[in-house]
Amino acid sequence: ERLSNDFQFIDVGRMDPPKKDIITRTNEFVEIYQPFSERQVASQAHRCLDCGNPYCETGCPVHNYIPNWLKLVTDGNVMAAAELCHQTNTLPEVCGRVCPQDRLCEGACTLNDGFGAVTIGNAEKYITDTAFALGWRPDLSHVEKTDKRVAVIGAGPAGLGCADVLVRNGVQPVVFDKYPEIGGLITFGIPEFKLEKSVMQKRREIFTDMGIEFCLNTEVGKDISFEQLLNDYDAVFMGMGTYNYMKGGFPGEDLPGVHDALPFLVANVNRNMGWEKNPDEFISVEGKRVVVLGGGDTAMDCNRSSIRLGAKSVTCAYRRDEENMPGSRREVANAKEEGVRFLFNRQPVEITGDGKVSGVKVVTTQLGEPDENGRRRPQVVPGSEEIIPADIVLVAFGFRPSPAEWFGEHDIDVADWGGVVAPEQQQFKFQTSNAKVFAGGDMVRGSDLVVTAIWEGRQAAEGILDYLDV
Ligand code: FAD
Ligand code: SF4
Repeated sequence: ERLSNDFQFIDVGRMDPPKKDIITRTNEFVEIYQPFSERQVASQAHRCLDCGNPYCETGCPVHNYIPNWLKLVTDGNVMAAAELCHQTNTLPEVCGRVCPQDRLCEGACTLNDGFGAVTIGNAEKYITDTAFALGWRPDLSHVEKTDKRVAVIGAGPAGLGCADVLVRNGVQPVVFDKYPEIGGLITFGIPEFKLEKSVMQKRREIFTDMGIEFCLNTEVGKDISFEQLLNDYDAVFMGMGTYNYMKGGFPGEDLPGVHDALPFLVANVNRNMGWEKNPDEFISVEGKRVVVLGGGDTAMDCNRSSIRLGAKSVTCAYRRDEENMPGSRREVANAKEEGVRFLFNRQPVEITGDGKVSGVKVVTTQLGEPDENGRRRPQVVPGSEEIIPADIVLVAFGFRPSPAEWFGEHDIDVADWGGVVAPEQQQFKFQTSNAKVFAGGDMVRGSDLVVTAIWEGRQAAEGILDYLDV
């Protein structure tokens, strides 16, 4: 009888799925949220007001038909909901888990004004997980095949988004990746406590059944030349990400015990998954005092991985205040619950140590006036130097583009900051300066989000379809 109530959003408050107990959370690399039950998800989905002007769809970078699939879930029609989810999103089960919903769909929800936004992300996850478990699969039986073939470089969300739209339009995508599994940073960056690896493994099965071909363990430029892809395929899409690590530019960054964030996370995934080739790449933090520098998603993942790997203490130093952290608020809250200590308004100026790291020298900052982008820049408080003791320092300052050496010889322009130039607003969306080559995701927009990479990959596929005139 509750589901017939139009004022459900007042009677039933927003509820997130319960989290696992803290012992599991601080020791195991497993997702921390329990799944919603059918009853819970229907009751939460029914809180949607169907407000007529769905701001949530605007807030969602792939513009999901959110109120429509919430209605289907309320009615218990999970198969139709899954079908609808897949019209706009290539990886709904992934986005439901890792999107910073508080900044996107849920941040824009009309109810996010005192009542508590609808739990959109968890509904999206529920729909896809449940439909897959019940045997639902994308139906491509109506697709008429063309004779066109497109090479996709990178099996991250951008490449997968592109391949998904291509195959649904009868164009054969062949996806090349240097890693042994698909997913890009979804698989090799984001740890299991946010998204278990089985999720992408299931997706690989589904993509393969849809007809997407994968050539894994194949690095373009080394195992196969870019030239060959240009010759063998009707078009090429590049979704290769950004893989140059930003440095702080202060003394001590090369001391033993100081590590870049991503290799630390990747080595841990490789060990957990049995994919490890060189045990020396694994960075043990057991019993050690870990200091993580940075405030984004990568920093949060380092914090929470270190807790699970048995660090003696984990301290995260960030140069702005909590309000201005770029990472998802949900993940900051989870990190705090798991025992991470945050030091806000601390800017590192030196990593100290004699032969190996012993601490991080920081100064306290306060926020100055807003800059031209409206962001308030930190300023140093005089005389505020202090040293945070550390045995291991993980540097998570973000990523810069990593242009491939072949770009120049194939007339692929890059911007001053290193990103590939592939504008959305032009005749063929996301086409580069080489007419046969398209690009999207982090390598075009700078490191961002899974969902924005999916959007660009999907849009680029539309550009490719127009270019191939199919
Ligand atoms: P990538 O995911 O980087 O994929 C690029 C792929 O291209 C890789 O698989 C790479 O192996 C392959 N490749 C590159 N060059 C070649 C070559 N020459 N030959 C063959 N293959 C090649 N986003 C969120 O939305 N939520 C989160 O919680 C979140 N957490 C994150 C945590 C971490 C630690 C990191 C690092 C990022 C996180 N992000 C998160 C960001 C998100 O993962 C990225 O924005 C997104 O994966 C970018 O997608 P992409 O397809 O552009 O590139
Ligand atoms: Fe929200 Fe991300 Fe799903 Fe869009 S894709 S509805 S932003 S969780």
